[in-house]
Formats: sequence, C-alpha cells, structure tokens
Amino acid sequence: MTKKICSFCGRSEKDVKLLISGLSGYICDNCVQQAYEILTTSGVLGETGQAGEEQEQFDLKKLPKPREIKQYLDEYIIGQDDAKRHLAVAVYNHYKRLQQPASDEGVEIEKSNIIMVGSTGTGKTLLARTIAKLLKVPFTIVDATVFTEAGYVGEDVESILSRLLQVADYNVEAAQRGIVFIDEIDKIARKSDNPSITRDVSGEGVQQAMLKLLEGTMVNVPPKGGRKHPDQDYIHVDTRNILFICGGAFPDLENIIKERLTNTTSIGFGSDPKDKYDKDPNLLSRVTNQDLREFGMIPEFLGRLPVTVTLQGLTKDFLVRILKEPKNAILKQYKKLLAMDEVNLDFDDDALEWIAEQALKKDTGARALRAIIEEFMLDIMYEIPKDSNIGSVVVTRPYLEKNGGPLIQM
Ligand code: ADP
Repeated sequence: MTKKICSFCGRSEKDVKLLISGLSGYICDNCVQQAYEILTTSGVLGETGQAGEEQEQFDLKKLPKPREIKQYLDEYIIGQDDAKRHLAVAVYNHYKRLQQPASDEGVEIEKSNIIMVGSTGTGKTLLARTIAKLLKVPFTIVDATVFTEAGYVGEDVESILSRLLQVADYNVEAAQRGIVFIDEIDKIARKSDNPSITRDVSGEGVQQAMLKLLEGTMVNVPPKGGRKHPDQDYIHVDTRNILFICGGAFPDLENIIKERLTNTTSIGFGSDPKDKYDKDPNLLSRVTNQDLREFGMIPEFLGRLPVTVTLQGLTKDFLVRILKEPKNAILKQYKKLLAMDEVNLDFDDDALEWIAEQALKKDTGARALRAIIEEFMLDIMYEIPKDSNIGSVVVTRPYLEKNGGPLIQM
C-alpha cells in the first residue's frame, strides 16, 4: 500500500493531526489552516469566515427603485403583494433619507421603521432578510422575548447592536445602515389594559426601553469577544439610520379589528352586522394603530414604527406555489439533489395538494412544508441511489397517503 502523504507539504500521515483525502491526493490540517489564512487575507473570505460576496458594499447611488425591490422580492416570496409594495417604498425612502443634506430648510425626512403583522410562517422574516440581501446591508434577527428593561435579569435591548456589529464584521459604518428584524414583537405587549402600577419588565418596560433605539440615538456597545478592539471599551453606534422592522403574529388581533368594525355601542350608523367579517381573509389589512394599542402596544412605541404592513394568511394554493415557484423552492432543491444521482424527480399536482393540506393542518404557515417533505423524501432518498436502474420517480398522492399506491418509477 502506498504511503499517504499531504500533497501540498509532503508530510506523512503520522506527522500530522489529520489527513483529508481528495480525489487524487491528500491535504493535512496544517495546510488547510494556511489555505484558510490565505483566503482571509486575500479578501475571498471575510474575517468572520463568511464568503466575501456577502460583504459586497452597499451603494446608495445604486439604490434600487421600489418597483425593482418588489420584482426582486417576487423571485423569492410568493404572494403578499400588498406587503411587498409597502415594504419596497418604505425601504426605498429609508435609504433615500441617508442622502438628504444636513440642513434642508428644516424639512427632515423621518425614519420609516416598519411593523409587520401576520400569522407565523407567512414570510415576514423572509421578506426582511431578502431585502437586506438585495441591498447588501448587514442584517440580524433578534427575538423580542429575550429582552428585559435595563437592570433586570435578561438581555438589554442594546445587545441588538452587538449582533448587528458582529454580522457587519465590526464595520461600524456598515452596521449603522443595517436592518434589524425584531421578531415576536407581540410578545412584549402590555398584559393588561391598565397601565401597570408595578413595573412590567416583560412587556411595557421593554417597549419603553426600545424607544430611543428605534428613534435614533448614540449607543455604547460593548464589543463582544473584543478581538478587534482590545484597547477600546465601547463601540459607539448611532442608530439613526438603522432600519428596524418589527414582526409579530398578534393572535386575536383579528377579533379586536372585528369588534371595532362591528361595534354597535357607537352611534350605530354605518356599523356592520356582527358576522360580516367572520370569513373575511383580508380582515388583518384593516388594522389601525388603535387596534394595536388595544392589543397592548404602547402609543410611543407605535409612533416610532410609522409603517404598518400586513401579511395574508396562506391558502392551499399559495402553499402549493411556495413548494414550486420561489427561486430556491424546496422542490427545486430536492430535484437537484436527486439529479446528482441521475434520477429525475417529479411530483403529481395531487401530491402537492396533499402536502399543502397537511401543512395547513399544522397551522405554522409555510414553515410546515419542509418538515412534511423531509419525512417522505427520507425514504425515497434512502432507497433510490442504491438501484441505479431507476431513472425517474414520480411522487403521487396515493403514495403519500400510504394507501399502497405506487411511487411511479420509470
Ligand atoms: P414568519 O412570518 O414567521 O417570519 P418566515 O418568513 O420565517 O415566517 O417563513 C418561514 C419559511 O416559510 C421561510 O423560510 C420560507 O421558506 C417559507 N415561506 C413563508 N412564506 C413564504 C412566502 N410567501 N413565499 C415563499 N416562501 C415562504
């Protein structure tokens, strides 16, 4: 047997910690380490080890127009047209603000932070993430439930900025025009209608603590890890140009809206019959600040999120389209995987509907789709590659229903 040596430095297996084999040679851990350093110093990888492509610079002059933003979103996100249009304009205006001259006869374009309302799994995070990708600005997702008012056990709201700094690779200027997505914002609603006498650290207190951040302030952020700033205690981050997008499912909000629209205790004219909106799929789009206040968001907080965007609940047809159409649709991903084994994978329309029906039952929006597909694809991917005679697989509804129906193979 030939002796295994690193094809780069010539060290033998016993002289190194690890020897990784390739098609026609080997590479040792030392050489991997060196290659990694070459990649980071040459800029192919950022210092965090992420591909340099991600770090490509945001350019205000190349700011895409709202229509272009919407078109880009259409490639990845199905439906939600109204939300996409609102977002495209709000984001465009937000970044145009950055170009405004310092003093312009007192007219100052205000920040257009956004609040997104829609059931879980309808695309809120995906929309925010996709916009950040298009604009090439740092993007981070934080969960509102981890925060407490300063001084209490839990994370301070300022920690949002350390995460943004991390993804911006500690480039403060880039972080200062990044996008922060604050998820589960409905979970920090005030618990009762009465403003609390005792301090409410979990809800109202957190909303209060976020006010300055959302509006624009200078924050001293402790550098986590401190690797890049050993002699500096804090990094100063200005949040004036950071775009905050808050998202939440706001359960029960529909009832609040319905209640308002059908409220007969007010004079009575124009109020609608009680059941008029029971089946209205677009009820959420009628949301007003008053409804959100009723839900438990404080007026000062809402005042700093002037753009309200609502997302539609996903129907069966939407779910089927989500399976097939987005640029990196789940079905396309599985097709590609099997194509590597030279197997052509197809799904009957009936089968797709079955998957969508199962997902609807789970009530977690499009998030359920992947779990459902993964379950049966596991069997298929386990069986197929071993039999190289199989050139094509069609997944049918009877197969998925486990009625003994055939998984058609040709
Ligand atoms: P949430 O509204 O809870 O933030 P996400 O945006 O995280 O939901 O969606 C979860 C997953 O579901 C996404 O990663 C995406 O794959 C899929 N998804 C949800 N809505 C859509 C949509 N409208 N178009 C395409 N994919 C979607």
